[in-house]
Amino acid sequence: MERESLEMDVVFVGAGPANLSGALHLSRLIANYNAGVESGKREGKSLGEIQIAVIEKGSSVGAHSLSGAVMDPRGLAELLPDFKEQGAPLEAEVKEDFFYYLTKSRAIRSPINPPPLNNHGYYIVSLNRLTAWLGEKCEEAGVNVFPEFPGADLLYDENDRVLGVRTGDKGIDKEGKPKANFEAGVDLLAKVTVLGEGVRGSLTKKLVRRLGLDEGREPQVYSLGVKELWELPDDRYPAGRVTHTLGFPSDQWTYGGGWIYGMQNRVLNIGYVTGLDYRDPLIDPHAEFQKYKTHPFIAKLLDGGKMIRYGAKAIAAGGLHAMPRMYSDGVLIVGDSAGFLNAARLKGIHSAIKSGMLAAETIFEALVAEDYSADKLQAFESRVKESWITPELRRYRNFHAGFRHGRWLGMVNGGLQYITGGRAWGIFDRDHQEAGHEAMQKLSAYGYNGNGSAAPRYKDLRFDKQLTFDKVTDVYHAAVGHDEDQPAHLHVLDTNICATRCAEEYGNPCQRFCPAAVYEMVEVAGAHGVKSEPPTSAGGSSGNPTNRGPQAGSSLGVVDREGADKKPRRQLQINFSNCVHCKTCDIMDPYQIINWVTPEGGGGPDYVGM
Ligand SMILES: Cc1cc2nc3c(=O)[nH]c(=O)nc-3n(C[C@H](O)[C@H](O)[C@H](O)COP(=O)(O)OP(=O)(O)OC[C@H]3O[C@@H](n4cnc5c(N)ncnc54)[C@H](O)[C@@H]3O)c2cc1C
Repeated sequence: MERESLEMDVVFVGAGPANLSGALHLSRLIANYNAGVESGKREGKSLGEIQIAVIEKGSSVGAHSLSGAVMDPRGLAELLPDFKEQGAPLEAEVKEDFFYYLTKSRAIRSPINPPPLNNHGYYIVSLNRLTAWLGEKCEEAGVNVFPEFPGADLLYDENDRVLGVRTGDKGIDKEGKPKANFEAGVDLLAKVTVLGEGVRGSLTKKLVRRLGLDEGREPQVYSLGVKELWELPDDRYPAGRVTHTLGFPSDQWTYGGGWIYGMQNRVLNIGYVTGLDYRDPLIDPHAEFQKYKTHPFIAKLLDGGKMIRYGAKAIAAGGLHAMPRMYSDGVLIVGDSAGFLNAARLKGIHSAIKSGMLAAETIFEALVAEDYSADKLQAFESRVKESWITPELRRYRNFHAGFRHGRWLGMVNGGLQYITGGRAWGIFDRDHQEAGHEAMQKLSAYGYNGNGSAAPRYKDLRFDKQLTFDKVTDVYHAAVGHDEDQPAHLHVLDTNICATRCAEEYGNPCQRFCPAAVYEMVEVAGAHGVKSEPPTSAGGSSGNPTNRGPQAGSSLGVVDREGADKKPRRQLQINFSNCVHCKTCDIMDPYQIINWVTPEGGGGPDYVGM
C-alpha cells in the first residue's frame, strides 16, 4: 500500500496536558533561541523553522480528557506564569477540604485532612476544557495540532531507533476491506517522537516491551476512576469545596475511595476509584460507584439533582518504582504513559505538564546538537531527577504497594511513609507489588460457586435511573461514537478461553471490569454461532453509521465464529462502539489476552466539561 510520508521534526503522540505543554514549551524555546541568534545576542546557528506536530485520536483536543480534577497549579504556573490573566479555564479555587470515612450508614468526618489530600489554594478544573485551552495556545504558537489522528504504530529502523509514527487508516470496513472513503494512514517522520498517550498507552506498551524499558522496575499498577457530573437544584455544595471519602462500598481488600468536587453553575463532580488489583473476581467498578451513591450521605447530596455526564478512565498508580526507562533512540515517554502520577495525592496534571516541559528542554538541546540518540535524550531522566517531580514521587514511592495487605495496614504504611520520607513500613526503600491482574482470585478460591451469580456484593443494588444507572444508560452520557463499520479495536487474542476456562475460573470478569458494557457473554444458536440480530441502541442513533450512543446487543466484533451445532452456547460479544477508551480491559484481563488498539480517528467519548 502506498503511504504518504510527512517530514516533521518533532511529533508528540497524544494531546494531553503532558504533550501540549511539551509542544508549547519547545516552540517557545526554539523561537527565543532563533531570535537570540539572529539578533547576535546568542552564539550558534539558527534552527530555522522546526515543524512540531501533536496528533490526537479524539475528535477534538480534550474530547478524551477525563480527570477528577483538582489541579496543583505548580506545573501550569511554570509553563504560563500568567495563566489566570490569560484566561485558563479554572472552575474554582479550593476553599474547603473535607475527608470522611464511610461506614455502611454513617459518614464520620476526620478532624484532620490526610496531608496528601490537602488542596487549599489548588484549582478545581475540567480537564477537557483545560486541555482544549492548551491546544489553542499551541496553535497560536505555530504547533500543528491534528485531532482525529491516532498513532497506530511506531516506525523503527533496523537498529530499533524510532523514526516516527504511522497514523491509523480511515475507511476500513468491519471485514478489513477498504471502503469508498478509504484513506491510508500517514507516516509522520520525526527526529524525536514523544509518547504522551496517557495511561496504558497502546504504542508505549509495545515500545516498552520491544526495548525492555521496564527491566528491573516494579510492574505498573492501576486503578479505575468512574465519574459522573450532576446538576444540583440549589447551592447545597459550593464551587471550590473538595471532599474525599474512604470506606463504603470498598471492602478492606479492595483499594478504593470517592471524590466530590464542587464546580461552577451548581455542577457536582462525583466519582469513585477502584484499584485494578482487586481480589474478588466479581467486583464491578461501575457498580461500586453506583453503590457509593446509595450511601445516605451521598444520596442526600444528590437528591433532586440530575446526572448529565459520565466517563471512566484508568489511573497509573504504581509510582516511582514502576516507571519505565523514559528514553531511547529518537523517543521519549512523558506524563501518565511513564507513570508520573502521584497516587497518594490522586494528582498527575501538574507533573504531566512538568514532564512535558522537561522533555521539551531535552529535545531543544538535541536539536541544537543535531543528536537524537538515546545518549543525548537520556538527559530527560536526569532533568526529571533534578526537578521537583522526583522528591514528590519519592515521598510516596511505596504508597500503593502497602494496600495489598489490606486497607488498614495500607493506611498505617501510608502514615509511616509520610514520616520517613517514603520508606515502606518505615524501613524498606522498595516494597514489591504484583501486576494488578495477578491479584484477582478464582471464583472457587473466593468461595463462589458456579459462575458466581449468587454473590451477595450487589444483591441490593438497583438501577433506578434517578440516582443509580446501568452501564448502557451511563455510556449514553459519555457521548461515545465509533463508526460501526470498522474492525473491532479490542483484540481478544484467544477466544477459545472465554466460554470455557475463563467462564469457569473467573466467571468472565470482562463483563464486570469494563465500565461501558463492551463485553457480553451471549447465548447463541444457529449455523455459525454468530449472533445475527441487528444492533439495538438504548438511546443513541443506531441508524447512523457513526453511532453516538451506546450499544446493547450489537453483532459487531463477535468472536468465536466456529461451530455449526444448533445447541445454544455462550460466546463473547464485543460491543466495541461503547468503548470509552479507559484501557481497563487491556490492564485487568486475567489471561492478558485483550489488546486495546486505536480505532479509526475521531472515535470514542466526547468528554465535554468533564
Ligand atoms: C478518574 C481520574 C481522576 C483524576 N483526578 C486527578 C486530580 O484530581 N488531579 C490531578 O492532578 N490529576 C488527576 N488525575 C490524573 C490526570 O488526569 C493525569 O495525570 C493527566 O491527565 C495525565 O496527562 P497526560 O497528558 O499524561 O495524559 P492524558 O491526559 O491521558 O492525555 C493523553 C491523550 O493522548 C491521547 N492518545 C492516547 N493514545 C493515543 C494514540 N495512540 N494516538 C493519538 N492520541 C492518543 C488520548 O486520547 C488523550 O487525549 C485523574 C485521573 C483520572 C483518570
